[in-house]
Amino acid sequence: MVILSLVNQLKTIGFKVEDFNYVALSHTHFDHIGHANYFKNATWLVQENEYNLVTSDSEKTKNPNIYNAIKELTKIKKLNGDFDVFGDGTVVIKTMPGHTIGHQVLYIEAGLEKPILLTGDLYHFEKNRENKGVPSFNYDVAQTLKSMEAFEAYAKKLMLQ
Ligand SMILES: [Zn+2]
Repeated sequence: MVILSLVNQLKTIGFKVEDFNYVALSHTHFDHIGHANYFKNATWLVQENEYNLVTSDSEKTKNPNIYNAIKELTKIKKLNGDFDVFGDGTVVIKTMPGHTIGHQVLYIEAGLEKPILLTGDLYHFEKNRENKGVPSFNYDVAQTLKSMEAFEAYAKKLMLQ
């Protein structure tokens, strides 16, 4: 198996990190922020509470690797809810907190045959979606369940089921 860096993966489809105006992460867990600093010229679209937490003094001390992975992202657009990235409904960030304080999912239809919803870690496995299973390490279990309901309602509205 060949593991390509994000930079090389982008190269295979004709992009460079400098080509991006925006970067968004579903949340700031270690397994979702790996190459974030490469996008230091882009504007980071992040829920304000997620940003405030990950950049807080206590988190910098407790999880320095997390902070170090995003610290070069200095162009910040703090969100407080859903955000229509281009103002035309083709790429929309939906706030779905619970897994982390500012977890978000992404609706994309731009350039695709069929729109998709990226769930981030709202669901880790298909089974989680079927049985509404919530990992005990989630930031807020009740909030996660509420987000799952909102996600399913949104998917149904979009007829993406
Ligand atoms: Zn996670």
